[in-house]
Amino acid sequence: MDNAAVYFMLLIAVIAGWVLGRLSAPRNAAAERNGSDIFEDYFVGLNYLLNDEPDEAIDTFIKALEINSETIETHLALGALLRRRGKVDKAIKVHQALLARPGLDQSFFGATKLQLAVDYISAGLLDRAERLLREILSDNSAAKWSALQHLITIYQMEKEWQKAVDCSDQLLLNSAYKRDQELRAAAAHYCCEIAEQLVSDKQFVKAKEKIRKAFGFDKRNVRAAMILADIEQHLGNYKAAIKQLIGVRNNNPEFISQVLGPLAECYEQIHNLPEYEKLLSNTLPQQPDISVVLALSELVKNRSGDQAAIEFLNDYLHKKPSLAGLVELLRLQIPKTDAEVSSNLNLLQQLVDSLLRKKPAYQCHHCGYESRSLYWLCPSCQKWDKIKPIMEVS
Ligand SMILES: [Zn+2]
Repeated sequence: MDNAAVYFMLLIAVIAGWVLGRLSAPRNAAAERNGSDIFEDYFVGLNYLLNDEPDEAIDTFIKALEINSETIETHLALGALLRRRGKVDKAIKVHQALLARPGLDQSFFGATKLQLAVDYISAGLLDRAERLLREILSDNSAAKWSALQHLITIYQMEKEWQKAVDCSDQLLLNSAYKRDQELRAAAAHYCCEIAEQLVSDKQFVKAKEKIRKAFGFDKRNVRAAMILADIEQHLGNYKAAIKQLIGVRNNNPEFISQVLGPLAECYEQIHNLPEYEKLLSNTLPQQPDISVVLALSELVKNRSGDQAAIEFLNDYLHKKPSLAGLVELLRLQIPKTDAEVSSNLNLLQQLVDSLLRKKPAYQCHHCGYESRSLYWLCPSCQKWDKIKPIMEVS
């Protein structure tokens, strides 16, 4: 929102708050401020706004407005505005002052505590924010659903995955959030984080339980399927691992390059590489990713020798040129050429190889962030499941 729009909203909010405050304020001499003082404050604030000094204007309006049940929402809006402008200390003072106000309507307590908790999160005071948000849950106020969302954010920042799962479970009890795919995807990843730790501790049974929970949140979660395949592979259940990996290929074809390595290992373990070759041959027309071509080329080479692999690659690259395919073709052909040509081809191979190494392999479909490594949580936009491999079809 641009500054002009912020000022306009601020002005409207303050005028509405002031008028309502005036109408509902107690009319005894001790409690009521002199009307002309309020007008004076109001015009001082307006002057700050016109002179492009919004922070001073907000301060003045907060001082000018009496706190009562009619103006509290305006105070909350002004406090939130201070926070958004980076004045977190001032926002904390505004919200603390509201909470300390005797006789404040109970219905506003939750909303005020929630705003103060958000101030604490902005200030990095996560322990205080967590305490306050937990209080909101105990109070069972209307702010509890928002409190749960903020608690999930805190637990994600602190990598307290189990607590994040528990809060997600509670939030999903609310029908308004039940079908929230982002919330479900995030919760599935919290389970995956726990499962990965359990796998590294070789606690495979417990890890499987967490994966089952992850699928409960998001039945097509790629990461959960890949971890489960890894667990099955560790346990020697290669056919079960293959089933999971083929599921990834079917449900999330853009992740095909991620499953080829473990698929090859599993088929090798069950001594059925022909079946793997058949799978890749069937996959190629639907998912013409160069990783599939390279995996097939490797199989052809091991089965029928270098020349057969060269012919396979040559044939494919004439239909769909690819730099990664060219590097592999050069690697196979260089030993078959004479010394002088081989030296030149080596240079060409190194050059193309270094170009490929600089290319990003993954991209966030939400913010466009690119990387060489796969991140399940985008480091740029902080969204889960948005980073995907860049399919190289040519
Ligand atoms: Zn992103």
